[in-house]
Amino acid sequence: MLELDASQIQMGRQAVDKQAALAMLGEALAAAGLATADYLAGLQAREAQGSTFLGQGIAIPHGTPQTRDQVLRTGVCLIQFPDGVDWGNGQQVYLAIAIAAQSDEHLHLLQLLTRALGEGDLSQALRTARTPEQIVELLQGAPQALAMDGQLVGLGLPVEDFDELLWQGARLLKQAGCAASGFALSLARGEPLPLGEGLWWLHSERGVERPGLAFVTPAAPLRFRGEPLKGLFCLASQGEAHRQALERLCDVLIGGRAAELCEAHSSRSVIEALGGEVAPDWPSVQLPLANAHGLHARPAKILSELAQGFAGEIRVRLAGDDGAGVSAKSLSRLLALGARRGQVLEFSAEPGIADDALPALRAALESGLGEAVEPLPVAPQEPAADETAQVPLQAPPAGSRLQAVAASPGIAMGPALVRVLPRFDYAEQGQGAASERRRLDAALAAIGGEIQRMVDGAGVASIREIFSAHLAMLDDPALREDVDARLARGASAEAAWQAEIEAAAQRQEALHDALLAERAADLRDIGRRVLARLCGVELPGEPDEPYVLVMAEVAPSDVAGLDRQRVAGILTARGGATAHSAIIARALGIPAVVGAGEAVLALAQGTPLLLDGDSGLLRVAPDQATRQQALRERETAQRRREQAHAERLQAAVTSDGVRVEVAANIGAAGEAAEAVALGAEAVGLLRTELVFMEHAQAPSQAAQEVEYRRVLDALGGRPLVVRTLDVGGDKPLPYWPMPAEENPFLGVRGIRLSLQRPEILETQLRALLAAAEGRPLRIMFPMVGAVEEWRVARDMALRLREEIPLADLQLGIMVEVPSAALLASVLAREVDFFSIGTNDLTQYCLAIDRGHPTLSAQADGLHPAVLRLIGMTAAAAHAEGKWVGVCGELASDRLAVPLLVGLGVDELSVSPRAIALVKARVRELDSRHARALAEQALALDSAVAVRALVAEVH
Ligand code: PEP
Ligand code: MG
Repeated sequence: MLELDASQIQMGRQAVDKQAALAMLGEALAAAGLATADYLAGLQAREAQGSTFLGQGIAIPHGTPQTRDQVLRTGVCLIQFPDGVDWGNGQQVYLAIAIAAQSDEHLHLLQLLTRALGEGDLSQALRTARTPEQIVELLQGAPQALAMDGQLVGLGLPVEDFDELLWQGARLLKQAGCAASGFALSLARGEPLPLGEGLWWLHSERGVERPGLAFVTPAAPLRFRGEPLKGLFCLASQGEAHRQALERLCDVLIGGRAAELCEAHSSRSVIEALGGEVAPDWPSVQLPLANAHGLHARPAKILSELAQGFAGEIRVRLAGDDGAGVSAKSLSRLLALGARRGQVLEFSAEPGIADDALPALRAALESGLGEAVEPLPVAPQEPAADETAQVPLQAPPAGSRLQAVAASPGIAMGPALVRVLPRFDYAEQGQGAASERRRLDAALAAIGGEIQRMVDGAGVASIREIFSAHLAMLDDPALREDVDARLARGASAEAAWQAEIEAAAQRQEALHDALLAERAADLRDIGRRVLARLCGVELPGEPDEPYVLVMAEVAPSDVAGLDRQRVAGILTARGGATAHSAIIARALGIPAVVGAGEAVLALAQGTPLLLDGDSGLLRVAPDQATRQQALRERETAQRRREQAHAERLQAAVTSDGVRVEVAANIGAAGEAAEAVALGAEAVGLLRTELVFMEHAQAPSQAAQEVEYRRVLDALGGRPLVVRTLDVGGDKPLPYWPMPAEENPFLGVRGIRLSLQRPEILETQLRALLAAAEGRPLRIMFPMVGAVEEWRVARDMALRLREEIPLADLQLGIMVEVPSAALLASVLAREVDFFSIGTNDLTQYCLAIDRGHPTLSAQADGLHPAVLRLIGMTAAAAHAEGKWVGVCGELASDRLAVPLLVGLGVDELSVSPRAIALVKARVRELDSRHARALAEQALALDSAVAVRALVAEVH
C-alpha cells in the first residue's frame, strides 16, 4: 500500500497559481527533510517539460533526473487546495502530491497511487475533505478490484491431499502479489466449505495484500472429509471485491455447470466461467520499453494521448502477464503497470484500428515517447554454432591433461555433451494462422515422438518419469491455447511458442520453490527442442549414460535445473570456483571443473572425459589404465566419504588436541535441520538475502522472526552466526531500486547500503534479537571496510539490545575487504569475532571479479597475498582474545584446510555437504605441522606454488 500518513498532508491551503503551489510544495519537502530548497527548481523544470496533472483533481509534481541529487530521502508531501489551482489547460488540482525520489522509487509510488485511485472520480471528495485522515482514507480506501486471471488458476496439479492443494492455491495468490507470508497458514486454519460437485471454498482475510481468487484442481480426483475433492477456490479476501465473482460462481453451480470448472483444461475457460476478463483475441505487438525511468508520468501521458487518437480500444499489459491488460488510453492505468526500462509491453488493438494503431505505437515507443532514450543493450547471445565454427578452436587431443579450477569435489567420468546454444533466427510475424498452426503441430508431433522413444527406452525409473513429465508439458492444453491465441493474432509459430514457453517458465520460477522452479528448466528444455525443430536447427542429443556437461559458463539456474542422475559432471570453459554456480554444484554434489579454456567447447560430442573436481584436472579420452586408476581413486574417495559421514557428529580435533569448530553455511531457514544432521556444530553463516528476496516488499519484523526462529529451533542451542542483509553489487532487490553503477562491486553494497536505509537494518536486528529468546546469537555485518561503518552498526545493535535483552549475543564483522584485514588489530579491540569471507576477500585483494569469465580462475584464495591477510586477521583476533572463522568457499577446499588451521583459524564454516569431510581432514592434521606449513606457504610467490606445496606433503 501507498505509505501515506496524515502528518504528510497540509489541509485547506490556497495558491494563486501553479507556480505559487509549486513553491509551497518545494518548501514542504525541504521542511520535511526530504529535499534541499534547490529541489524547487527541479519541480519547475519538470512542469515546464510537461504537466504532472494525473487526473481526478490530482497532480504529482516531482523533480527532473538532473535534480535528483537534491533529494535527501525518498518521500512525499501532500497539499490540499480546496479552491483548486489551475494546472494548465483548465485542469483543476485539489490535491498536489509532491514526490522526492532518489531513483525509480518514484515509479513505484505512482504505481501504488494509481492502483489505489481506481476508476471513479475522487476530485470532489478530495476537495471537500476536512481532515488529513479523510484524504488518506480516500487515497488508500478506494476498493481494489478482485485479481482473477490465468496466473491464479492451477489445473491438474500433482497433489496428494487437500492440504497440498490448499498450499498450491495460497502459492498462486502469493505469487500474484495478493497474499503475504502468513496467509497460507491462516487459510489452512479456516473452515473449508463444500460447494457441492467436488468443489470446495476457503478464504482468509489475514496477510492479504490485495483481493484475489485462485482456483486449483488436483491431477486425479481426491476425497476430503468423505466427499469428492475436484477443485478448490482460495480467496484472499478484502472488502467486497469478490462479491461479483461469487455471484457468478453461484450461477454456475445452480445452473449445474460445475463440471466446466472441475474438468476445465484451460485457465481461460475457468476465468470466462467466473466472469473474469480474458485477453481479447486482437492483433498484438510486443515492444520493449527503453525509457531510463520506465513508463513514468511524462511518457505515459504521451502514450495515452496517442492511444486516445484512435477510434477503438487499445489494451496493454506487461509481456508474460495474464489477464486482459489495461486501456492504453488511461494515464492512471498505464502508470499502474509500473513498467520499467527493459520490460516488454504487449499492445493489442481492436481489429478495425490495429493496422494503423500498432505501427504508430511501435514508432512512438522506438522514438522514446518524448524522451531521449539510450537503446537497450542487446541480450548477450551464446555464440551461434556457425560463429563458433569461425573461431579456429582446436579441441584438446585424446589423451591430453588439462589443469583447470576445482569447483566441486568428486571424480566424474562420461561422454561429453557440449552445449553451445545455437541462435534461433525466425520472423516474428507468421504466414497466416492456419499454416503456422500446421507447422507447430508437425514440430510438436515430431518432438513428442522423440521424447516418447526416450520414455520407452529409459532403463531407470526416475529418468522415465522426467521424460513423461516433458511429454505432459508438451501436451498441456492451457499452453496450447495461449499459443493458439498468439497465432490468431498473427505471430509466427516460433514467436508464439517461444513467448508462451518463456512466460510459463517465468511463472514457474516466481513460485520460489526449488522443486517447482526446476520445472522452468524443463519447460525451457522442451521449448528449445521444439524451437530448434521449427527453425531446422539440430540440437545435440543427450547420451544414454550419465554425461559430462560442457558449456562456456553456467548460470546458477542452469546448475540448479540439472538432473543429478543424468549429469555426471560439469566442465566449463570460463568461470571460477567462487562463482555462485560453482557453489550450487557443490550443494548438489555434482563434481565440477571450471575455467578450462575455450578449447573444450570444440570437443566432439561424446568424447570420453574424466574430471577430478578435487584437483581440477581434466583428462580427455583417457586410456584404459588411467580410467581404471580413476575408478580406484573414486572408490577410495567414496570410502573416505563414508567414513567421514559415519563420524560426522564427532568433534573435529587435530591429532595434538586443537579443536576446530565446523559449522554450516546456509541460505534458507529450512536448511538448518539438515545441516545439523550432517554434523554442523553451529550455523557459521546464515545468508539472509533469500528472506528478503522472497518478498515483494521489505519483510516485516514478524515475517523475519519466523524464519530466524526456525533456524534457532533447528539448532537446538548451537550458536547461530547471522550475516545481516548483504545486497547491492550483483544482488539487487526488486523493491530497493538502486541507480546503476559502473562498478557495482565497488559501489553501494553490503553494510554501505544497509546504512543508507537504517530502518531496514533496524527491523532485521530487532527480528533477530526477538527470535533468539536466550539462545546464542552472533550477528555480523558484511563488507565492512571502515571502522566507522562497524561502529554505527554495532551501536544500533547495542541500542536495540537495551529494548530486547539477550545475554548471549556477540557482534562481529565479515572480513571481506582488504582494509578490514589490514586494520584487524584496531577492529579486534572492538568486535567479538571475525568471520573471513574469502570469496570477496580474494576478489578485492587480487582485483579479479569473482565471476569474471576468463580471469576468475586465477582468483584463488590460496594466493599467498590472501593467506597473509587471513594470517594477519587471525593473529589480531587472538591478541585480543577473540575468535576467528572462515566462511568463504576456501574453508571446504581440502588443500586449504591445513593452511587455515595452521594460520590459527578457530572455525570453518562450509556448505552442509562438506562438513563431514572437513572434520575428517582436520582430524588428520597435527597443528604444529600445519603451522609450519602455513609459514612456508606465506613465503611462496603464487597460488600455484602454494597448491603444489600442500599437495606434496599431503
Ligand atoms: C564471502 O565473500 O566469502 C562470503 C561468504 O559471502 P558471499 O559469498 O555471500 O558474498
Ligand atoms: Mg561476500
